[in-house]
Amino acid sequence: MRIVISEFMDEAAVDTLRQRFGAAAVHYDANLVDHPAALATAVADCDALIVRNRTQVRGALLDTCAKVRVIGRLGVGLDNIDVAACDARAIRVIPATGANALAVAEYVIGTAMLLRRASYLSTGEVSDGKWPRNRLSAGRETAGAVMGLIGFGSIGQLTARLASALGMQVIAYDPALPAKHPAWQEIGVRRASLDEVTVDADVISLHVPLLDATRNLFDAGRIAAMKRGAVLINTSRGGIVDEGAAVAALRSGALGGAALDVFEQEPLPAMAGWTGCTNLILTPHIAGVSFEANVRVSSMIAAAVIDVLQ
Ligand code: NAD
Repeated sequence: MRIVISEFMDEAAVDTLRQRFGAAAVHYDANLVDHPAALATAVADCDALIVRNRTQVRGALLDTCAKVRVIGRLGVGLDNIDVAACDARAIRVIPATGANALAVAEYVIGTAMLLRRASYLSTGEVSDGKWPRNRLSAGRETAGAVMGLIGFGSIGQLTARLASALGMQVIAYDPALPAKHPAWQEIGVRRASLDEVTVDADVISLHVPLLDATRNLFDAGRIAAMKRGAVLINTSRGGIVDEGAAVAALRSGALGGAALDVFEQEPLPAMAGWTGCTNLILTPHIAGVSFEANVRVSSMIAAAVIDVLQ
């Protein structure tokens, strides 16, 4: 039995695999994804492959995975895996659904509060002896504001619970989740259309997978239709928000703030045009990766892989 892990995984979960199948059976290299030739050699005779979101499991690499029976995904979102091709080869693809939802939901609430208050980005000025108190005195509170969610699945629902606890009104667009689904009533969320969420929300947060239907969903036109001064948060996938249009809307004052954790191209290429843009938070695809989430995600996938292989 051989297991290849091509991106970082919690050590305790890697040890669980070593204990179950023997140390020599587990090939763990957190940087293997960056060495395509070594990756191809490693997967050639393995039974299980464990990846995060950077390993592209498709095409030639998938062809090399002749013996693979299971692919564990340390996270959710399967856009880096050709799931249809895996199905055709009877390879099980197992995401860590729900295990990093709290990390993402807390990121959304934290950045929403920070961006609405717009008063935390003054460290440089204050330490330089400036005192921008008047300019920063019109920040907005969070309670009473409308949180608009695009996608009301695992992360959307947890974000809604936290937002409700802060006194926000929550509305969500998710046409695939039927009106009779208990989550709407249980969490107290109004089911809305995409246009309603766009125009009514003070904070819009995206929690949909990257699909043909969601690609470029928040294009320049939809961003322009958002409430003036609203905050846009994208932790879902790059390609769903038009990043250039979001930054232009921030610069013009149409948007009050934005947090982007995911990008069309990752790592984000250096873009001089974005520097100096205030009330913009950029993070390196980290919303779902906290210490605790890494432990939960890794142990869930280790258990699932053991289950399939034994
Ligand atoms: P989920 O499958 O539980 O929920 C996704 C929801 O989106 C579903 O309820 C589905 O009905 C809905 N949906 C699908 N297409 C839609 C559309 N066109 N319009 C509106 N709603 C639509 O997934 P989740 O666990 O909530 O994760 C959501 C996404 O977040 C993942 O697909 C992944 O891409 C992303 N993610 C990012 C990070 C990060 O670190 N930034 C971490 C975890 C997940």
